[in-house]
Amino acid sequence: ELILAFETSCDETSVAVIEDGHKILSNIIATQIKSHQRFGGVVPEVASRHHVEQIIQCTQMALDEAEVTYEDLTAVAVTYGPGLVGSLLIGITAAKTIAFAHKLPLIPVNHLAGHIYAAQLVTPLSYPFMALVVSGGHTELVYVSAPNDYQLLGETRDDAAGEAYDKIGRVLGINYPAGKAVDQLAHQGNDTFKFPRAMIKEDNFDFSFSGLKSAFINTVHHADQLGETLDRADLAASFQASVCDVLVEKTLHALAEHPVKQLVVAGGVAANQGLRERLTATMATADPQTELIVPPLRLCGDNAAMIGAAASVQLATHQAFAGMDLNAVPSLDLV
Ligand code: ATP
Ligand code: MG
Ligand code: FE
Repeated sequence: ELILAFETSCDETSVAVIEDGHKILSNIIATQIKSHQRFGGVVPEVASRHHVEQIIQCTQMALDEAEVTYEDLTAVAVTYGPGLVGSLLIGITAAKTIAFAHKLPLIPVNHLAGHIYAAQLVTPLSYPFMALVVSGGHTELVYVSAPNDYQLLGETRDDAAGEAYDKIGRVLGINYPAGKAVDQLAHQGNDTFKFPRAMIKEDNFDFSFSGLKSAFINTVHHADQLGETLDRADLAASFQASVCDVLVEKTLHALAEHPVKQLVVAGGVAANQGLRERLTATMATADPQTELIVPPLRLCGDNAAMIGAAASVQLATHQAFAGMDLNAVPSLDLV
């Protein structure tokens, strides 16, 4: 089984070829970050334009690197949401065109299902498993009882974890996307500020990061007014300690109430070294029975390989194929 997969939901143009749902034959990722940085965030029109310019070349590179042709393919997969409508449409149009021209089934994939099934590129999945989805737009605890069968246990009530990183990064003078640089800075400091850990003791699986963001910004502004400069590494470390405490605590709570075989950490923030270290250490002592799966860095951020992996699961479970009327769904939910 060979799936050609497209991912263009935001600011990465990515095309991959996945064999049997788990083997990456190619995973081309063209990032546009440099074009958006001077605006401090992703500009939708600029993103679509880049996708148009990149998509054909990325597709050719993905096929070449995998050493396959269109004739070898089993199906074509594409992210149809959530994401920026103009960006999604470029991938959808490319996928539809190839599916139509080569008479291949078209598999519509939810971007978040993609993040979750990135884990399948690392190790075989056994059900039920739990997914902690932490990305630029989402923070969710998802119980996956069977292939492609999701139950949302809880989610953020305001900012996503990655969004909070990007916003406090701006206050520290760090360019978008700030997550990685804040993470690195955090490793040089200590949790001296003791920012709030919102909802950590509440008996639910929801999150809130806007209070932490405000506390962080107020602390910096207050010091500015007094003419003081605060230690940036300590600020970053304090912010990261708060985010990680809440994510780890809530995840353990979810695992205690919904026992599973595996815990999958998914999305851009899964690349966070602090979170990876904390989860590895905590799971080893608090819940050694549950296998922790954290994808390598390249598979945490947006990429088409994860879309191919999720599509393979849909193919195996005979989930409906899309027709030529497939459209982008910018605010698509997982469940
Ligand atoms: P979504 O997947 O919710 O639709 P998205 O696709 O924009 O949103 P991703 O690409 O999955 O989000 O992740 C990008 C986010 O991950 C950004 O907010 C970025 O700052 C954050 N991020 C990347 N690396 C790290 C890191 N090491 N530590 C913390 N955050 C990180
Ligand atoms: Mg991105
Ligand atoms: Fe994403």
